[in-house]
Amino acid sequence: MHDDSVLVERRIRRELHERLMPAMYSATVPFQVEAWDTPGEPVSYAEAMAGLASSARPFTVGSKWSRPWGTTWFRMVGDVPAAWVGRSVEAVIDLGFHPDSAGFQSEGLVWEPGTDGKGHPVQGIHPRRTALPLADAIAGPIEVVVEAASNPAFPMVGTRYGHLGSLATAGEAPIYTLRQAMLGLRDDEVFHLLLDVEVLLGLMTALPATDKRRRRLLRQLQAAFDVIDMHAVGATAARARRALQPALALPARAGAHQVVAVGHAHIDTAWLWPLRETERKCARTFASATRMMDLYPDYRFVCSQAAQYQWMETKYPSLFQRIRDRVAGGQWQPVGAMWVEADMNLPSGESLVRQLVYGQRYFESRFGARCEEVWIPDVFGYPATLPQIFRAAGCNRFVTQKLSWNKQNVFPHSTFLWRGLDGSEVLTHFPPVDTYNATVVGEELVFSEHNFKEHGWSDWSLMPYGHGNGGGGPTREMIERARRFQSLDGAPQVTPGTTTEFFEHVEAEMAAGGAVPVWDGELYFEMHRGTLTSQSKTKVGNRQCERLLREAELWWATTGDVPAAVAAELEDLWKAVLLQQFHDIIPGSSITWVHDDAEASHAAVAARLERIIEDAMQQLAPATSSLANAASTDRAEVVSSDGEIAGDGPTQTLHDGTTAAMVVVPAFGIAPLAAHPCADHVAVTERSFTNSFVSVSWNLEGTITSVIDVRAGRQLLPVGGVIDVELAPDHPVEYDAWDVEEWTRGLGGSVGGVQSVDVIDHGPLVATLRVRRAFGRSTMEQLISVRAGSPRVDFTFDIDWHEDERLLSLMVPLDVHAREAACDIQFGHVMRPTHASSSWDAAKFEVCAHRYVDLREPGFGVAVLNNGRYGHSVQDGGIRVSLLRAAKYPDPVQDHGRHRVTVSVLPHGPGLHQVLREAEALNLPLRPVQGSAVGAAVPVVSVEHPGVQVSAVKRADDGSGDLIVRLYEACGARTQVAVRTPERVSDAATCNLLEERQHTLDIADGFVHLTLRPFELVTVRLCN
Ligand SMILES: [Zn+2]
Repeated sequence: MHDDSVLVERRIRRELHERLMPAMYSATVPFQVEAWDTPGEPVSYAEAMAGLASSARPFTVGSKWSRPWGTTWFRMVGDVPAAWVGRSVEAVIDLGFHPDSAGFQSEGLVWEPGTDGKGHPVQGIHPRRTALPLADAIAGPIEVVVEAASNPAFPMVGTRYGHLGSLATAGEAPIYTLRQAMLGLRDDEVFHLLLDVEVLLGLMTALPATDKRRRRLLRQLQAAFDVIDMHAVGATAARARRALQPALALPARAGAHQVVAVGHAHIDTAWLWPLRETERKCARTFASATRMMDLYPDYRFVCSQAAQYQWMETKYPSLFQRIRDRVAGGQWQPVGAMWVEADMNLPSGESLVRQLVYGQRYFESRFGARCEEVWIPDVFGYPATLPQIFRAAGCNRFVTQKLSWNKQNVFPHSTFLWRGLDGSEVLTHFPPVDTYNATVVGEELVFSEHNFKEHGWSDWSLMPYGHGNGGGGPTREMIERARRFQSLDGAPQVTPGTTTEFFEHVEAEMAAGGAVPVWDGELYFEMHRGTLTSQSKTKVGNRQCERLLREAELWWATTGDVPAAVAAELEDLWKAVLLQQFHDIIPGSSITWVHDDAEASHAAVAARLERIIEDAMQQLAPATSSLANAASTDRAEVVSSDGEIAGDGPTQTLHDGTTAAMVVVPAFGIAPLAAHPCADHVAVTERSFTNSFVSVSWNLEGTITSVIDVRAGRQLLPVGGVIDVELAPDHPVEYDAWDVEEWTRGLGGSVGGVQSVDVIDHGPLVATLRVRRAFGRSTMEQLISVRAGSPRVDFTFDIDWHEDERLLSLMVPLDVHAREAACDIQFGHVMRPTHASSSWDAAKFEVCAHRYVDLREPGFGVAVLNNGRYGHSVQDGGIRVSLLRAAKYPDPVQDHGRHRVTVSVLPHGPGLHQVLREAEALNLPLRPVQGSAVGAAVPVVSVEHPGVQVSAVKRADDGSGDLIVRLYEACGARTQVAVRTPERVSDAATCNLLEERQHTLDIADGFVHLTLRPFELVTVRLCN
């Protein structure tokens, strides 16, 4: 037979689109439309009704509506013909949609007044959900009210259109046209014929050309199209459906792969839209999800992010009640356990803990159960400590798929045990469909089966489906297609279900001896490395708030009694910080509006925390000038102060008029601001600073050419190496704010532009070199300081940055022979390669580190510390810190403005103890305080081991007054540590992250001894 298969397939596709699809409605009645534009930001239903009542204007279909980010309320009125009653009557609305990318453009929410007239969300409208079913419509007038949001459409990549990301620059011209507003009588036979054809055509396309089923399907489809009268599709649709029945009835092959299809709508809490729009996205998406549940009882939907539920609870209470009912009925499953789907690289360990604690508490209090699985499909890398953190919050299961985007290496597993830094394991699944926005078509299902890497032992995979990122969720067409794929020859078998049901299948397979693979260590994401640096102010604001939250909890714990109002405010502030840790906010990948919001939120939170800390200090600090130390180690260091400094020790007036002195403050304690004797001093020459620990020299340009560890008698820098500020053109291939390319730095060089080099502090306590530069449209002041008694060399940058598409870095070349660098992460550190030997090594050319990166040989090492940066590279013979970027998309003014940050070079002896101490000190500066107490308060706890870090000291959230101390072993060593309090401890126990007792601890002599595994995280509850 001659092969006409290509031609036949083209015929089917053309007739499908041009004949069948337009035949969906057998009759239509136009709506009469009125409109009212909100004058500014979105308003309530009541305000909109008042606006429509007082100043609605007639609106003609085909006219433009609303400026970017505006809202227009449409009232649409039509007459349902008597002959339509009892049939599939629908309102059909097209706000001016581009056919694809639901959630990335205009969206609508249909409201109904309800019996109370307060207004209740009915269903969302988007390009793939233009119909509102009106099953109970009676003959006569009917009214539909739509809240239409004119959210501008952003192209996903490119450098233009960023101006749309701010109200100030988006413009006033209307951007959408109301294209369609009518009542339609849906022809059910055509509707189902379309679905039958889509399912079989998709399956046919996905199967190999040689597959028998593929060839047969083509002829079966051809036969069905032959019986359709293209001039009377409705009249012949049933006949065509009958022709397709044999193709649809052929069941799945024995032993077919099993797919659990779980409805979902990924809703980015902010991204190409601000937080306020996400609240409305949630209402639209969740209302649609509950509508779908009315229509399809077997439909299942999973939904993460407690913060989004809370928005519904406070702003859309009737919708929230519908959600609760659906959760109780088992159709809606809360997942994820976290407050938001947070970025995992950048938040502190304690922040990740609180994401889970506040998330789990919310889910449990509102829905009666905690989540068993963490659900973060769209996050840019997963640190090695997560399995331990997840388990301590009650989650032994984890779903993500982002590593399918890896550019260099294909991740080898789909379902596996992920083993973390301390040995904890969580059962992890990467849905092999490689998306969290599947649409349930044959191509995806066949790909899922081919891409699944566990066929050797497992039959089950998960498919999250539904429009996502901007929300939208599953459509009725997806649900209908899923039904057709329940048992269909050539495709895996699709079962609607929840993630819990999926994991239960896998766990049964494991219990039966299934050989589940193990992946040990971090899940490094081979993309989006620029998100470690983009939008520096958002990141620095987060780190500042994390520090202040630690201080506020510690100092109120020290008072002994946290008033309920303070506890409630701290919870509010935590949640405000957690919200901004969403995976497009803190990574710096959002529009201008979102980052403006983030900076304002961080500033407001910080101001409130400063006041809370000050209130605690009234009870803790004496009336004389004092210093408070929130770090877990005793401090003796040179600080500077605006005021007078008492004491016998030496002082020094610095260039800025402040006074420097050596001070001593106990761990978690408060001590007078007094100058202590100081055995060390900094000697200053024209080109060098030297104390007992370190000697630094520079050249005429102010570039550091030598750093000598005096005690070790060792030069840190390689021959010819200098510590240099570098500037490189930064043009990612795809995603501007997200990506840094491997070759980027090689295209750049020394920033140059030196204007002055001056020694401005001359010892004996502080020596400072000031280097001023001007380059491009930017200026930079760099202060390089050495202090008495410290081996640290601090580089403090004050940068007025106005570059575009440039990457600014500090390069510290090091003569240290180490194949791996220790990088500080949440609750531990990971080793990353300093070489690019394998493709897995090479991919790690830019890595995340929190407070330090360390290169070491036995007995000697050099760490580079920072107080507000995350992106580092360690593969060019040293440690490079990414200081600033300047992508143009999606925020065209990304990072423009003033930035301050300190990076320190620290030579040290064996191990990490000194590094931990200095990293903590740099990030927890001593706080000048003054109160009204008689004497300084005694530290509330002490944890005395240089390898153990304290993450939180607080009173228990249950109001019992018990002291909670969260600590972890940070070096990878088995360790014994004592936890002491001023009073004898009467009872002590380890807890989970939610502060629930687990194991009673032994108490000896009134204090607690703990034995920690390498990198073990422990939460201790102490009762006096
Ligand atoms: Zn996302």
